[in-house]
Amino acid sequence: MVLTERRKVEFPFLYSKDGNLIHIVAELKDDPAALVSLLTFLSSKVSLIGTESYSTGEGTAIFSGIGKIISKSETADSIRTWIGESNLVLSSRITHDNQGLLVDSFHHGFMSVDGEACILLPAQVFTGTIEDLIDIFHSGGEAIVYNQGLSYAKRRWATLKAIVPNAASRFDEISNMVAAIGWAVVKITYEAGHRRLRLVNTECFECFGHTKRAGGCFFLKGMAVGLAESVFGREMNGEETKCMKKGDDTCEFVITAKDGERLVTNPE
Ligand SMILES: [Zn+2]
Repeated sequence: MVLTERRKVEFPFLYSKDGNLIHIVAELKDDPAALVSLLTFLSSKVSLIGTESYSTGEGTAIFSGIGKIISKSETADSIRTWIGESNLVLSSRITHDNQGLLVDSFHHGFMSVDGEACILLPAQVFTGTIEDLIDIFHSGGEAIVYNQGLSYAKRRWATLKAIVPNAASRFDEISNMVAAIGWAVVKITYEAGHRRLRLVNTECFECFGHTKRAGGCFFLKGMAVGLAESVFGREMNGEETKCMKKGDDTCEFVITAKDGERLVTNPE
């Protein structure tokens, strides 16, 4: 059985009307055995809902787990005491909910592996901003949004290019990077002897909860053209030939070089 792709769930906060929520952050020796021992200890006391662990790069690892206390004999204080006394754990921070609301007060924001500070922006909030711009400025708003997508892609590329050698023959991997950060899930095909790139987008953030106030996906169109111009090193034309806002099953962009030449000169 092959696993189907899905959205990643982040836990910056959690609400439960019954309370009993706990957030455990522990610094451990960077050794899988230490993590297994901690998880074994917690298994009878806490039902873990969201966990992560990562290396600090300084010989230690951070475990962060959000869960619900299930053992009637345990409280956040008793778990804090045990963890404080354990020689497994080098340092720790235990917090609990306030009237059912638990906030991860240890992490502030996110960082991608290439060191960029990130924020968690709900897709519909950003889409709403885009639609407001188009409502106010009409075709001028569409042009602003398109240009924002274009310049976003070019700024991103300035950091990505260092970690993506041979980018022109790896456009599919670059689209996987776009999917991993939640912008779009795109299937790529080259057509017309590698002169045309067709991007079929099945999960378009601009179409999440859309209200049809915008007549197309102008940010992603700009992003597709900006990425193609960065990767192929030439000016590109882009058209959105299908759009979920217009009732199509997918959004679809067709990209060609303004010089009419092949996008990839030595296709693998
Ligand atoms: Zn669209």
